[in-house]
Amino acid sequence: MKIRKNDNILVIAGKDKGKKGKVRYAYPKTGRILVEGINFAKRHTRATGQVRQAGIIEREETIDVSDVLLVCSKCNRAARIGFKKLEGGKRVRVCKACNEVID
Ligand SMILES: [Zn+2]
Repeated sequence: MKIRKNDNILVIAGKDKGKKGKVRYAYPKTGRILVEGINFAKRHTRATGQVRQAGIIEREETIDVSDVLLVCSKCNRAARIGFKKLEGGKRVRVCKACNEVID
């Protein structure tokens, strides 16, 4: 997957379009990520034996990885990502704006 944990991303679609955030978790199997401060959703909770507080809680929900661009750590631009194979076979990510290796 192009986006990984601790990457800085820019949201390019959806209600948080234009916001930047840091990836807290990446879920490669589903192609979704959880980003700090992005896609807050309100959940109504009821007091039960385990949950003491009833009411509305807000927490981040995952967003689709196709709705974000990686903010390049080298040129600081939101960029499309390519892949490059290094000598030895290691696959690294390359910023298509500045052509620097990101990993
Ligand atoms: Zn770059």
